[in-house]
Amino acid sequence: MSVKEIYKTLDYGPAPESDAEAKAWLASHKKKFDLFIGGKWVKAGGKPFTANNPASGAKLAMISQASKADVGKAVRAADAAGAQWRALSGHTRAKYLYALARLVQKHARVLAVLETLDNGKPIRETRDIDIPLVARHFYHHAGWASLQDSELAGYEPLGVVGQIIPWNFPLLMMAWKIAPALAAGNTVVMKPAEQTPLTALYFAELCMKAGLPDGVINIITGDGETGQAIVAHKGISKIAFTGSTEVGKFIRKATAGSGKDITLELGGKSPFIVFSDADLDSAVEGVVNAIWFNQGEVCCAGSRLLVSEAVADKFYKKLRRRMDKLRVGDPLDKTIDMGSLVDKTQLTRIQNMVAAGLKEGGEIYQADIPMPNKGCFMRPTLITGVDTACTLVREEIFGPVMVAMTFRTPDEAIQLANNTRYGLAASVWSENINTALDMAARIKAGVIWVNSTNQLDAAVGFGGMRESGYGREGGREGMLAYLKPKGAEGKPLVAVTPTALKSNTPETGIDKTPKNYVGGKQARPDGSSVMPVISASGKLLGEVGRGNRKDIRNAVEAATKASKWSSSTAHLRAQIIYYIGENLDARKDEFAQRIKSMTGCTLTAAKKEVAQSVECLFFYAGFADKFDGAVHAPPVRDIAIAMNEPLGIVGIVAPQAAPLLGFVSLLAPVIATGNRAVIIPSDVYPLAATDFYQVLETSDVPAGVVNIITGEHDVLTPTLAEHDEVNGLWYFGKAGGVASVEAASIGNLKQVWSHKEQQVDWAKAYGRRYMEKASQVKNIWVPYGA
Ligand code: NDP
Repeated sequence: MSVKEIYKTLDYGPAPESDAEAKAWLASHKKKFDLFIGGKWVKAGGKPFTANNPASGAKLAMISQASKADVGKAVRAADAAGAQWRALSGHTRAKYLYALARLVQKHARVLAVLETLDNGKPIRETRDIDIPLVARHFYHHAGWASLQDSELAGYEPLGVVGQIIPWNFPLLMMAWKIAPALAAGNTVVMKPAEQTPLTALYFAELCMKAGLPDGVINIITGDGETGQAIVAHKGISKIAFTGSTEVGKFIRKATAGSGKDITLELGGKSPFIVFSDADLDSAVEGVVNAIWFNQGEVCCAGSRLLVSEAVADKFYKKLRRRMDKLRVGDPLDKTIDMGSLVDKTQLTRIQNMVAAGLKEGGEIYQADIPMPNKGCFMRPTLITGVDTACTLVREEIFGPVMVAMTFRTPDEAIQLANNTRYGLAASVWSENINTALDMAARIKAGVIWVNSTNQLDAAVGFGGMRESGYGREGGREGMLAYLKPKGAEGKPLVAVTPTALKSNTPETGIDKTPKNYVGGKQARPDGSSVMPVISASGKLLGEVGRGNRKDIRNAVEAATKASKWSSSTAHLRAQIIYYIGENLDARKDEFAQRIKSMTGCTLTAAKKEVAQSVECLFFYAGFADKFDGAVHAPPVRDIAIAMNEPLGIVGIVAPQAAPLLGFVSLLAPVIATGNRAVIIPSDVYPLAATDFYQVLETSDVPAGVVNIITGEHDVLTPTLAEHDEVNGLWYFGKAGGVASVEAASIGNLKQVWSHKEQQVDWAKAYGRRYMEKASQVKNIWVPYGA
């Protein structure tokens, strides 16, 4: 037999990984687990459930269901541990995180096996990807703990954080959440998914081994009800969630007005784009990694294949040939490519979804390979001949199913790529760097991989845009998500009540009805209705438009058309904001008089407010071209370029008090970062804002970049909060509004930032944080170096 023939006929022998150590560990617990609270195992109040091996159906252990009372116990334990943990030096916290990293490495093999047993994913992946990344996360964040005082000065921890994770990367998701939370000085109540609790419970023992103070980490098992109890608990300052968009929206709604911070890492339908000049063989391997890694149960899976029509047939042929070489089977076998889905429910859900979806059209190809005859296995699947309206193209399948479409031009590829409610990740394949980077800039997603896919690292922020959620995990931005500015708590905000009208005669004697400002033009309010602006002494100062929802919609439409502002250069934006400052300064006396007459403050105080507003505009003009991103050097042959991108259209509800400074302090960072703004000024003192549009008109601000609608906060805000074209909402308006704004934001999961019903000192309210809140980091991974 020739060597060539031997290669052709070689078959795989079995290469099983031993599960003896993992089974011995389960046996040492009599296959029964309590909750890990306050550094001890604690009996739970709920009815226990089983953890099964989805590849074999074998029962692995009995798991406790934490009741509402148990959640309370865990929060109390975390709270009690908080003061001491926060008071430790960064170096001491770093030593604990370092110990956890080392312990994960020392127990890497048993953790990998346990994860494979519990989840069904191949040992090759748990051994080579999940567990090494877990250790990397703890190492990286040990570093952040050491550097906190110098690199994150001025911030403090949030307190007790509730963390809820899914089943697809159980230990890795836990590390992504626990490591930054602890590094920042928070304490944790963590709930793993009910399907995959075992590695989290093993990790609880590693915490004991590391001598972590009792209560710093509490791990409570349970189902969605336990999750709900965590979300609802008043003692928790932040919820960090990874899972489905549906539950993410539920959490946003459930926490509305509670003052809790939230970060949501949700679903996706990420495009995998192959240009005709791509290295097609590499791109085929990329597809394997994008959609058959982890059985496709990956939030950032490249699950929508977009191929240049010129090479589509050739590419599909290569892909089908490669599919027929994949190996699906016992996940503990080291030569297996794809293991079992997480459970029967998930398998049935995917099969039903595919069957129903195919009724709308499409051709299915499933790998022609041997399959196990039991367990939750599914063939690698490719569906071609679908279009943008098909359910399978629109909805997240969360399994080993790729849907493929073709495109002709880069513009069409962009249209298809962005034609989704999600925005988590994308993968672009082209040998032409111009094409690849142009696409990277235009795709709306938090992570872009050039000629690669599913690259992840602790130093590189990960997270989505649009309905893929908000917040980043990893890197500096991931640390900031577990911190707040020191001394952030102000006094409770109270609504400003207008003075009663004593005289109907306009103070100036001249009738003056300022209008809205939409698309660069003065616009009459749609409802042809006005509301009075009354001076501190009760005289009529003027009447402004009483805007309605149609006015808000018109303003959003104008802002949508001004999209060029978002891709304009920072230098141009800086120049224009300087010019606004210059023109405001030229009219400073008039603005000061206006503020004095509306608010009744002294002329000196009014002059100061105007001067501070000019200073604020200069500050953000100066910042516009210095708000740089970063270039990360993860431990692979890539760089990751972290770009600060604007959110898009930001709705601003300006404070009732500080009618000019509050307005400018919010508007300036929003437009400096490249957003377009729809702004509702103070509804008690709106004349500073309506005077301000005359400043805008003389400052070369492109039409639609700033739109101003006057009216009552309670009436106008809901339309802004519900509008699907608005990407972010800064609510600093009338007291009592935050809860409804946050609840109304769930349609497109817009990011809401608010005063949290506390007073803000506008003279001090500026800085990098405002730029960060107006932007989102996009990480572009580019192969680089040897
Ligand atoms: P879920 O979003 O339901 O679950 C994620 C986590 O949230 C689990 O710990 C879950 O607990 C918990 N949870 C469920 N309901 C609530 C609630 N009301 N309040 C608080 N916590 C809650 O995902 P599923 O596991 O049910 O998977 C369903 C689909 O979600 C998948 O098919 C996939 O499409 C998507 N998904 C996306 C993930 C991602 O990374 N983006 C990860 C996992 C799933 P419990 O485990 O007990 O249900």
